[in-house]
Amino acid sequence: MDKESILRLGLDFIKNIDLDRSDELYDPSTNNHIIKLNLYKDDHIYCPHCGLITNFEIRSSVVKKINHYSSLENNIIIKFYRRIFKCECIKTFREPNPFTESKRKNTIQREVKILYALKDINKSFSDVADEFNLSVTLLVIDFNSFNN
Ligand SMILES: [Zn+2]
Repeated sequence: MDKESILRLGLDFIKNIDLDRSDELYDPSTNNHIIKLNLYKDDHIYCPHCGLITNFEIRSSVVKKINHYSSLENNIIIKFYRRIFKCECIKTFREPNPFTESKRKNTIQREVKILYALKDINKSFSDVADEFNLSVTLLVIDFNSFNN
């Protein structure tokens, strides 16, 4: 992947994307736009269990799927290959995720975009759900807390 693609996708705020190990795939038959991302290993990571900062051993990795949008497209899937580290205290922990707030499935940019769509008085919940490929139920549960 090149820097221009990262810029076009609005992901340039993340400074440690490993471009050589990242890839962009587009499947026209399903209209799926998938971005596979790996980060450079961050030397400043600390163990959330004991606070140690060291050169942690990498145990394995997991793929975290995150929904993203760019100015051109509403539905982009990021596959973040997230390392699992093992600390000297024996516990394991996951590489920090810079794309989204913990446990949420959308990047912050996409959540902001959805919120703006929900505030549009000309759009119903189901219009917004269609636009962003979400179920109406999930949309209501997920975004209800923002409207209070
Ligand atoms: Zn530890």
